[in-house]
Amino acid sequence: MSAEKTEAIVIRLADFSESSRVVTLYSKDFGKISCLAKGAKRLRSAFDSALDLLSRCGVVLLPRSSGALHLLTEAQLLGRFHPPPRSLNHLYGGYYIAELLDALTEPDDPHPELYDVAVQSLASLSIASNESAPVSDSSPLDARIPILQFELAILREIGQLPDFTTCCLCGTPVTSGSAGRYWVSEGGVICANCGQPEYQHTEVSPGIITIVSRLSDPEQTQLARRLVLQPRQWQEVRRLVTSVICHALGKRPKMLAYLNFK
Ligand SMILES: [Zn+2]
Repeated sequence: MSAEKTEAIVIRLADFSESSRVVTLYSKDFGKISCLAKGAKRLRSAFDSALDLLSRCGVVLLPRSSGALHLLTEAQLLGRFHPPPRSLNHLYGGYYIAELLDALTEPDDPHPELYDVAVQSLASLSIASNESAPVSDSSPLDARIPILQFELAILREIGQLPDFTTCCLCGTPVTSGSAGRYWVSEGGVICANCGQPEYQHTEVSPGIITIVSRLSDPEQTQLARRLVLQPRQWQEVRRLVTSVICHALGKRPKMLAYLNFK
C-alpha cells in the first residue's frame, strides 16, 4: 500500500520495545488510528520531538489491513498543547479530550469535523496559539466552556446527542416555559411525569436543557464564548452533560474526577 499523509493529534502513547512506541492518533482523514513508530524513543528519529501527548502533527503512514498497527514513517510537529502553567483545569481538560476521542470513537472511522473541533478546543485550552486555530485574546477562556463544547460536538458526531426537544418516553415537548423538571436517562430527556425516583440524581431544569440544546448547535459557537452561568446553573449543566457522556461511554470517564467544574 502507498504512503498516506494526514494531520493528527496524539491521544495516547505506549512503549512497544526498547526503541519503539505505539502511538494512537486522532487524524483528520482516517479518524482514530494506532500506529507503530519504530525508533520513536531514539533521540534522533523521523519523528523528531513531535510525538508528545496532544501535539498536533503532520504525519506520513503506511496503512495496514484492519486490526494491524499502521506503520508511522514520519511526524512533523505543527503545534503543542500549552495549557496555562497554573491551571490544572486546562491541562486536565486536554487529557479529558484525549480520553473521549480514544474511548468514544471507532478505529479508522473518519470524522473530519470532530478533528477540527478537537483542534479548536485544545487551542482554546492553550495560552497562546502557535497554529492556525484562532484564540480570541491573550487570556485563556474559562476551561469549562471549550470542554463543554467538545463534549457536545463528540456526542453529535457519534450520534449520541440526545433529542433535547421532547420527552423520550411520552413525546411531551420540552420547552423552557413548561413547568416541572426533567431527567436524562437512557440517552434521552425524560419529563417530570415519566421520571422515576431513581433518576433524581440526574434531574435538570428545562432552562438548562434549552441552554445545552442551543450550545450543541454547531452554528452557535459564538454563543458559548459569551456564556455566563451562575454556579448553580453550571452544576445543572454538568449534571446533564456528564450523564449523557457516561451513558454514551458506558462508564464514568477517568479524567472527570480531576476536573473542577465549580
Ligand atoms: Zn414523559
